[in-house]
Amino acid sequence: MNEEELMRKAIALSIENVANGGGPFGAVIAKDGHIIATGVNRVTANHDPTAHAEVSAIRAACEKLDTFDLSGCEIYTSCEPCPMCLGAIYWARLDKMYFANNKDDAKQIDFDDSFIYDELALPLSERKLPAEILLRDEALKAFQLWQEKTDKIGY
Ligand SMILES: [Zn+2]
Repeated sequence: MNEEELMRKAIALSIENVANGGGPFGAVIAKDGHIIATGVNRVTANHDPTAHAEVSAIRAACEKLDTFDLSGCEIYTSCEPCPMCLGAIYWARLDKMYFANNKDDAKQIDFDDSFIYDELALPLSERKLPAEILLRDEALKAFQLWQEKTDKIGY
């Protein structure tokens, strides 16, 4: 399948998902033009705020390929990723992302991710989410153990 065919699949998933009780978002992960996995938004259906189409597709692709590294794969998502999904795309090491609708289109229908992008640009003390550093010295123990571990799998 070429790029447009793969995106049309992501868009078709987003359209079907509206009738199936999910948000209007779909994603496809492909390798060498073949679909590895798909995902749709199941936030309200599954009571899972992280069940965005892209995260769902990444989880399914990793399970199918038995890996945590999706190098060599590309993601086609019906809408520009939110900060969580964009972060997941980086963590999964996908080679490239394609999106159709953009975040301004999403904002028009009240899916406004821009406040998170705005928050990220602010210092911790100026964000809407209160945050406090607590017990750093005690938590560093796990980092020391990790650093000393000789058989760890880096990622
Ligand atoms: Zn997302």
